[in-house]
Amino acid sequence: MSPVEVSVVIPVYNEEDGLQALFDRLYPALDGLGDSYEVIFINDGSVDRSAAMLAAQFHKRPDVTRVVLFNGNFGQHMAILAGFEHTRGKIVITLDADLQNPPEEIPRLVQTMREGHDYVGTIRRQRNDTAFRRYASRAMNGLRERITKIRMTDQGCMLRAYDRNVVDTINACREVNTFIPALAYTFASSPVEIEVGHEQRHAGESKYSLYQLIRLNFDLVTGFSIVPLQWFSAIGTVLSLLSGVLFVVLLMRRFLFGSEVQGVFTLFAMNFFLIGILLFGLGLLGEYVGRIYQEVRDRPRYRIKAVLEAEPSRHRTEA
Ligand code: UDP
Ligand code: MG
Repeated sequence: MSPVEVSVVIPVYNEEDGLQALFDRLYPALDGLGDSYEVIFINDGSVDRSAAMLAAQFHKRPDVTRVVLFNGNFGQHMAILAGFEHTRGKIVITLDADLQNPPEEIPRLVQTMREGHDYVGTIRRQRNDTAFRRYASRAMNGLRERITKIRMTDQGCMLRAYDRNVVDTINACREVNTFIPALAYTFASSPVEIEVGHEQRHAGESKYSLYQLIRLNFDLVTGFSIVPLQWFSAIGTVLSLLSGVLFVVLLMRRFLFGSEVQGVFTLFAMNFFLIGILLFGLGLLGEYVGRIYQEVRDRPRYRIKAVLEAEPSRHRTEA
């Protein structure tokens, strides 16, 4: 159970076309580090050759490779959490399998950690994603900055480094829907951000649909703040006051001018507007209730089919 300096955690979901290129760049980058390291791959229920390729890589480099095989698709963040539980490193680095995060940046992350930080976030120097993804993500960043305490210039990049203590604290969390960089940020005492390169996906296509991206952002907002609920009660208060005033005005007009029938369409417009706000509030409430429901069910968050490793890692808690 020898501790290592650096653990690299990589979630893999149907990445057969890019995996070999990843191996070819990752291992040399880590060998050049001059520190002991380990790589933990998590196969998130891939239905292509990914699992077989990971197993082959394990047999090639069993000393520094560990493979966690899920028996289904539980999502990128669950995969990373499972990876965290199998790490031993003093520094833990997360990386995407599609080579959008260049493995050659790892030494810089390690060096920044050693300057005394316990969390190194990243900003993509030049982001290689579609224009829509860039704009949507900028808008979400702004919203998140306003309603959570999490300060992150670029929330989307997964190439990040975490201190052992931060990872241990994350391992103690039992959240179902979470966003790891944000969770880690809340536990870090000396976070810092550096710029890193960002490349186009090496092969295959993004595993996230628009809907899943929206869901992820809801997790980010409702999972780390109740400010939306507080805003909503504020809006409700203001609207009740306004409608109270309107009621008094209309009542007075009734006595002064008799019954009036104009303004039916204004009434409709106001009604639709208020119903819209009401439904939005209901949905928002539902987001929180749903999260509570998922938490209280307390089901295991993922299931591990097998772990390929030469020696057992120090963490072996339940899912
Ligand atoms: N991924 C995963 N499970 C999923 C979806 C994605 O493990 O359900 C992995 C995927 O293999 C990749 C990383 O998460 O290593 C990021 O996924 P992707 O590149 O599709 O996301 P994007 O870069 O488009 O945000
Ligand atoms: Mg990607």
